[in-house]
Amino acid sequence: KVKYAGKNNYMFFNKEMTEKLKEQIQIERILRDAIKEEGFNLLYQPQVCTYTGKIVGFEALLRIKNKRISPGLFIPIAEDNGMIIEIGRWVTKEAINQIRTWKKIGVPIKPIAINFSAKQLNDSNYIAFLKDQLKENNVEAKHIEIEITESIFLDKKEETIVFLNQLKNLGIKIALDDFGTGYSSLSYLTFLPVDKIKLDKSLCDKFLELEHISVMDNIISLAHSLKLEVLAEGIENIEQFKRLKLGGCNYVQGYLFSKPVEVMEVAKIYNDNFLEKIIKD
Ligand code: C2E
Ligand code: MG
Ligand code: MG
Ligand code: MG
Repeated sequence: KVKYAGKNNYMFFNKEMTEKLKEQIQIERILRDAIKEEGFNLLYQPQVCTYTGKIVGFEALLRIKNKRISPGLFIPIAEDNGMIIEIGRWVTKEAINQIRTWKKIGVPIKPIAINFSAKQLNDSNYIAFLKDQLKENNVEAKHIEIEITESIFLDKKEETIVFLNQLKNLGIKIALDDFGTGYSSLSYLTFLPVDKIKLDKSLCDKFLELEHISVMDNIISLAHSLKLEVLAEGIENIEQFKRLKLGGCNYVQGYLFSKPVEVMEVAKIYNDNFLEKIIKD
């Protein structure tokens, strides 16, 4: 009996691994096609000022056209197989193109934040590429922001700091994404050349419990004392919003205001005042 159980377990494990591998190979194929055939698109999620209720920028979030695969699944695969380099360049180019288009049609420009994977540090010409794209499209660096996570500092700390300073010298703002999910977050803040921290959804989900409120307030004031701005991610209800505003949080992003939307939808929400909107509801 024991033997059987062991055998079954082994077979089950094996099947699971095979399925996982199959899925991975399938996603790799989809990614390869998407790179070849302009198969990606960006959705835009507004970032809202807690005081004015106005949109101050958008985060660009990558999707594969006509596929319902979340970036949480395909980005790690692209990181492992190196495709993230090419994908990252596409995202950069697309965001810059979008700014150029907004400029051309005469809408006031809001900065676009793009996510930058730690693996993209291997793209040794990225800075030159970015600079060329900005110049070619006549887009100012202040209209592009780069989001990194603290995982970027794990291996190549010195190299990363040089890289981030190059971005800063270009005039690109840097946000530290998913803040509160890593290990030594607070100490990083004292030496990293970042402009903003993005408090992770997992932190924002639970801070309203009494014992966590002061932790949130303290993180915000610590960030402010280091001259960093604070954005709270994944805000879904008005209580979170109100308390974050009271605590001095500068910006918010989340389904309470808007999901990530297609670029055609951006025009519709562009002039919304989200304070009036959510308080009315
Ligand atoms: P992230 O950069 O932390 O982005 C925030 C994620 O939270 C997005 O998921 C967004 O759609 C989702 N979100 C925003 N507000 C809410 C909310 O109120 N409730 C809930 N439940 N979710 C909310 P998404 O678009 O699935 O992206 C997941 C992750 O994939 C991103 O996390 C980022 O790490 C990565 N990613 C997305 N696009 C890119 C990209 O172009 N390049 C790279 N390297 N990574 C990307
Ligand atoms: Mg992000
Ligand atoms: Mg995040
Ligand atoms: Mg994330």
